[in-house]
Amino acid sequence: MKQKILRLNQDEAGDWVAELSCGHARHVRHRPPWQNYRWISNAEGRASMIGGKLKCGLCSQGMDKPVKSKDRT
Ligand SMILES: [Zn+2]
Repeated sequence: MKQKILRLNQDEAGDWVAELSCGHARHVRHRPPWQNYRWISNAEGRASMIGGKLKCGLCSQGMDKPVKSKDRT
């Protein structure tokens, strides 16, 4: 599930944390070949990704908020 990136913050360890529109926060690390986020390592790349989409692992695991159901009676 892809979510919009609202902000990018750096934690105490210097790792980047993306604040997503779903309310989750996830680390963005460039660890090829598993995690390919080369854009995180430079300011231009980060700026270009604000407002872009990032896959949210927590949402994929079903840890998102309840989905509004559209039940018709
Ligand atoms: Zn999420």
